[in-house]
Amino acid sequence: MTGSDQNDAPDLKPCPFCGGTARIYHNTSPPGNSCEWHLASIVCSGCEIGVYQEVTPEEAISAWNRRVN
Ligand SMILES: [Zn+2]
Repeated sequence: MTGSDQNDAPDLKPCPFCGGTARIYHNTSPPGNSCEWHLASIVCSGCEIGVYQEVTPEEAISAWNRRVN
């Protein structure tokens, strides 16, 4: 394993800028003051455009797909 959780998500649309594959990153490490905290970010593997949201992976996927639209 590489240490970072990277998965291709089948629900993700291609990057609107370069057409590259979007990858979703999950980070469940708390920032220090929240007991229940999730960070999911989606980043293009081509141009590194991404959405960064302190939400669930599902919401991050929705945000990415809304941006594409
Ligand atoms: Zn891109």
